[in-house]
Amino acid sequence: MEAVAVGPKRAMKTYLSLNVAIIGAGPYGLAAAVHLRAAGVETCVFGEAMEFWETQMPVGMCLRSSWAASHIGHPGRELTLDEFAASERRGISKPIPVGRFIDYGRWFQRRVAPDVDRRRVVRIEREAKDFRLRLDDGEAVLARRVVVAAGISRFGWRPRQFDGLSRELASHSGEHRDLRHFSGRRVVVVGGGQSALESAALLQEAGAEVEVIARQERIRWLDQRAGWLKSEKNPLRSLLYPPTDVGPPILNRIVAAPDMFRRLPRTIRERIAFRSIRPAGAGWLASRLHDVPIRTSQVVESARRAEDGVELRLDDGSRRSIDHVLICTGYRVDIARYGFLGPDLLSGVRTADGYPLLTDGFESSLGGLHFLGAPAAWSYGPLCRFVSGTAFSGRALARRIAGDRAVTRHAAVPRAGAVWAEPS
Ligand SMILES: Cc1cc2nc3c(=O)[nH]c(=O)nc-3n(C[C@H](O)[C@H](O)[C@H](O)COP(=O)(O)OP(=O)(O)OC[C@H]3O[C@@H](n4cnc5c(N)ncnc54)[C@H](O)[C@@H]3O)c2cc1C
Repeated sequence: MEAVAVGPKRAMKTYLSLNVAIIGAGPYGLAAAVHLRAAGVETCVFGEAMEFWETQMPVGMCLRSSWAASHIGHPGRELTLDEFAASERRGISKPIPVGRFIDYGRWFQRRVAPDVDRRRVVRIEREAKDFRLRLDDGEAVLARRVVVAAGISRFGWRPRQFDGLSRELASHSGEHRDLRHFSGRRVVVVGGGQSALESAALLQEAGAEVEVIARQERIRWLDQRAGWLKSEKNPLRSLLYPPTDVGPPILNRIVAAPDMFRRLPRTIRERIAFRSIRPAGAGWLASRLHDVPIRTSQVVESARRAEDGVELRLDDGSRRSIDHVLICTGYRVDIARYGFLGPDLLSGVRTADGYPLLTDGFESSLGGLHFLGAPAAWSYGPLCRFVSGTAFSGRALARRIAGDRAVTRHAAVPRAGAVWAEPS
């Protein structure tokens, strides 16, 4: 259903009334839509399908998550990567190339939400018991409930050492779609996780002179020691490694059950989360980095503009003269940085460290406002940071919303009766 304005446009702001508005058409927004629609809840999704993956991940990247952990959640466990690959009669290599995952996401979207409304939501405000969503073309819609599935693109973390440098000299990994333009340039990559290591590999393959500087004592490679344990020959594999694929054995079981995770004491939750998502690189990446110098236990203390680029000073006293710093220090959730949540709305949402505190069905303390994906990780754990969390969140959300009589009663109102216009 496209949220088109209805009624005369002249000097009028027209509103369409929706049951549930979902902001974002990435894996979480799409999984939410298919679960809600399957439960009979009228839903409208706003945003460009798979936009973050298309615009903020580098060409040539491959997914760190396994095949089994990369299906987008569907109530009937349908529309899997396998179905997508079969439908195209074209294989998908492993690890999964980002371009193929984007194709999969769009294929999924065409089947579950072909009516995605591509406009961006620029503001959400309270209007009586509803929410008013302003769209980027000036129109507005009302919704009983809003599901924020807007991802992490606003949360790129840039350590303050790089504050004095322009984006031309020091950029966050999320600012690049194509790293090939660094060919022939000297680049320092800061960070020791998947994004840093994969960016370093892509930069080197593109002909840049690369060095990685990482704070941790050593680079951790995922799955390298798991060997036989993770191989298909191990009959206990599915017991040790649930398909969600987040966290080490035993902890991965807790992470795979967000409802259980949510009930643990906070200190235990924090420890499990830290251990499950600490910086690491996918095992398949290691061989691509043989020729890239990787300095561990080192921190960039300061960075300044130099005559021909950037000068970095490290905490061991050494210096680097380079052309560019690629900051791969990840993302820090802070929902206040979603530009569409105004101060009035934010003041009603209880938060911890920038994360909303969520109850059943991913609902915030502001009734009717839900958060999915990484912002839900404080309450529901690290699974929410990955595609493999979409099935759980879709189910939990649909259970909560389909049980809301106000929404289901409202759904019975004929569409024409649900539309009204207001003078601007
Ligand atoms: C480099 C990198 C590699 C990753 N690799 C993996 C991996 O291998 N496996 C994995 O599971 N996870 C991976 N992740 C994490 C990945 O980002 C999440 O798993 C996934 O994107 C979460 O889906 P989402 O729907 O929450 O967010 P997104 O995919 O970011 O979707 C949110 C969407 O909301 C849209 N949006 C935002 N604001 C608005 C607005 N105001 N109006 C309308 N639309 C809006 C955005 O355009 C975006 O398309 C990776 C992340 C990064 C940065």
